[in-house]
Amino acid sequence: MSLRYEAIVVGAGPAGITAAYELARRGRDVLLLERGPYPGSKNVMGGILYTYPLREIIPGFWEKAPLERPILEQRYMLLDDDGHLAFAFRDPSWADPPNAFSVLRAKFDQWYAAQAVAQGALLINETTATEVIVNDGRVVGVRVDRPEGEVFADVVILADGANSLLAKQLGFHKEWHPEEVALAVMEVLSLSKDKIEARFNVGDGEGVSIEMLGEATLGLPGMAWLYTNKESLSIGVGVTLSSLREARMKPYELLERLKSHPTVARLIEGGKPEEYLAHLIPEGGYRAIPKLAGHGVLVAGDAAQFVNAVHREGSNFAILSGKLAAEIVDEALKLGDTSENVLIRYRDLIMQGVIGSDLKKYADTIPLIEKNPLYLKHYSPRLHGAVRELFTVDGVPKKEKQKRMIEHLTAERGKLGAARDVWRLGRAIW
Ligand SMILES: Cc1cc2nc3c(=O)[nH]c(=O)nc-3n(C[C@H](O)[C@H](O)[C@H](O)COP(=O)(O)OP(=O)(O)OC[C@H]3O[C@@H](n4cnc5c(N)ncnc54)[C@H](O)[C@@H]3O)c2cc1C
Repeated sequence: MSLRYEAIVVGAGPAGITAAYELARRGRDVLLLERGPYPGSKNVMGGILYTYPLREIIPGFWEKAPLERPILEQRYMLLDDDGHLAFAFRDPSWADPPNAFSVLRAKFDQWYAAQAVAQGALLINETTATEVIVNDGRVVGVRVDRPEGEVFADVVILADGANSLLAKQLGFHKEWHPEEVALAVMEVLSLSKDKIEARFNVGDGEGVSIEMLGEATLGLPGMAWLYTNKESLSIGVGVTLSSLREARMKPYELLERLKSHPTVARLIEGGKPEEYLAHLIPEGGYRAIPKLAGHGVLVAGDAAQFVNAVHREGSNFAILSGKLAAEIVDEALKLGDTSENVLIRYRDLIMQGVIGSDLKKYADTIPLIEKNPLYLKHYSPRLHGAVRELFTVDGVPKKEKQKRMIEHLTAERGKLGAARDVWRLGRAIW
């Protein structure tokens, strides 16, 4: 291993692989460091991978990449104690060009990293960057847990995921607050292709994503999910660390409860547990975005809190930010100036683009739900009760039913309180 590169990328997840791919494609001498035995070995995702923005980097990548199923239907379920209220959207146009795929990261990341290597990036696995080397206020390399000890570069891109100990070491962010991170646990359950397609009402090779709220998280701020893979299902639940602590719940208890819910139990019946995974999701959003650029250094992906928890978009933001980081690093290298003055343009591009715009739009949503558990705890069963009232045919005139529905929804908060809650939520989401 040479000890000097134009760029070092720490972390071979979607953000780091993209940055390395794009820099190598431009002919840059780039080192990609991964602490796991191979890319994807340490990575956890539900996971739905949107084809944008990867299709702009590798057009038609889905014809070669190890993906699971194209997602043609997106379902939402509000779970009650033993029933559910559901909404589904199916659109055949999502098949061509595909909008999203279910993926298993251990396979996908390995394939994607191999594409970066084919472009000329040097990938070194089983190597942890333990520390950023700072000289006269600028980042000049990283210290690694290998005999070589230190590697140097004009620029270091930190794409080391949710914890990002290296950005913390630089003082770019403090320890995340427990309400800024969700702890997610998930299982992969093997199930035959035929069973999946019959049970989820999809055609040959097609897939469905299901997001679940309400009882799915016991009303805690977060979300649960169930995704169809080729011959397995991914099921999981993630809630903020703060709420988990307050509820004195263990994450696997939440997952076991979810799996035993009658609606869910029928969908996963016969599924054989193959893998159990746990990981953090940065959900601090707009206000938690750390410093993104310094002298000789940039931060991308989860390390920069680029996750839109409302729309479960993280991998696409990781890829997009990795691409933007590579563009700016390449420009800086051409200028021969990798100081913060030049690299700061990365922050501008992020903030002016879809990442900054979406995170800003939802800046108040997660804090509102976190501070007002009533949205998921109280309104969720109330809404279920109101809809049951409407749909149960029992001789009660519909006018009376409408009155009872309003009573259901406003029972605890009163009409004014409920109107205020709806308005606040609407403002935070819309
Ligand atoms: C349970 C779960 C479900 C999710 N579901 C979805 C979903 O359905 N759709 C979606 O778009 N997003 C989803 N996300 C979010 C998505 O997984 C992340 O946003 C995305 O993986 C971020 O990519 P990244 O490259 O920034 O970080 P990561 O994927 O975390 O990759 C970071 C890499 O850096 C390596 N690393 C860390 N520290 C070091 C070090 N010091 N030295 C060397 N290597 C290091 C790690 O081993 C890892 O390979 C989910 C996340 C979780 C946890």
